[in-house]
Amino acid sequence: MKLVLERIIHQPGQPLVCHLGDRRLQPGYDIRLRATGRLFCIACGRATRRTYRGGLCFPCSQTLARADSCIVRPHTCHFHRGTCREPDWGRQHCFQPHVVYLALTSHLKVGVTAARRTFARWSEQGAGQAVVLAECPDRRQAGLIEHALSRHFSDRTNWRALLAGGRPRVDWQAEWWRAARLVPRQLQHCLVEPAPPQALTHPVDSYPARPRSQHLEKQPLLAGRLTGILGQYLLLGDVALNVRRHAGHEVEIEP
Ligand SMILES: [Zn+2]
Repeated sequence: MKLVLERIIHQPGQPLVCHLGDRRLQPGYDIRLRATGRLFCIACGRATRRTYRGGLCFPCSQTLARADSCIVRPHTCHFHRGTCREPDWGRQHCFQPHVVYLALTSHLKVGVTAARRTFARWSEQGAGQAVVLAECPDRRQAGLIEHALSRHFSDRTNWRALLAGGRPRVDWQAEWWRAARLVPRQLQHCLVEPAPPQALTHPVDSYPARPRSQHLEKQPLLAGRLTGILGQYLLLGDVALNVRRHAGHEVEIEP
């Protein structure tokens, strides 16, 4: 099967059910994935020599709203100034309910996502537990809450620590209230009822002791037995391939 990599898709389950294209991924699956060396824009499909902003060609990276910096930093949404790159896309994607959540990846982090994507987002990040803090009518307001919390909660994940499988213990009730108190007064009405965290079980047989990241540009072949799928990572023993990071790479997958 030939395929242009985009992301690993997760569906709810105990453990989560993971797909790459039409392949179901699970530990024990013998995978042979070879990059052809060709790159395609995941938005317009054109062949490109380089990819930008997670799998886009240069023109798409400069013109699509989804490639704008406000997607990474939602509090900088500038729709209200009339400068959205694609107002129709913005209306559809950013002006719908968004949540601010706390998720335990390598540590406790804060994030924003569209409400209907909450579970998918947690899965993709490899979170072991997560809880919703606030629900807002649009992306920008959720972003303002995230921004207020960002000095107290990181928004990054240490991938080595995440893949090694050690997660700190979290007093969820205490952290929820610590976060709630940091929400700006004018957005306090967005707080949801406190609830216990949801647990996610990732299909991982064994966590690598010394994970090392494979880059398909340098090593085009990934072959062996899958030992786990964690977030956007395929694990083969100590080798970890971040699929999202390789968005736009054309690969052949066998069997
Ligand atoms: Zn493109």
